[in-house]
Amino acid sequence: MSKPILTYTGPGTSKANKTGAWRTNVPIFKHVTCNDCRICVVVCPDACVTGEDSVYEANLDFCKGCGICAYECPKDDIDMKLEEK
Ligand code: SF4
Ligand code: SF4
Repeated sequence: MSKPILTYTGPGTSKANKTGAWRTNVPIFKHVTCNDCRICVVVCPDACVTGEDSVYEANLDFCKGCGICAYECPKDDIDMKLEEK
């Protein structure tokens, strides 16, 4: 029998499955022009951006690299780059 792709299946398992493995692009938080608006925290569909005092980061165990945070950042303080695996 082949192994399942996900470690855990069923409802409520998103914290256990590290969905960041699906990512091809990664957000780079530059910490240069950030105005602490927290839009990146709010818009991330995976709720994986955290931080304070203009220093924010994505938890790459769960970030899928969708780029929404970079697109919505009003200060252009987040770049997306192709991830090297
Ligand atoms: S959206 Fe941009 S400016 Fe706003 S907190 Fe995030 S990194 Fe900073
Ligand atoms: S790239 Fe997408 S999943 Fe990753 S931190 Fe930004 S909004 Fe969240």
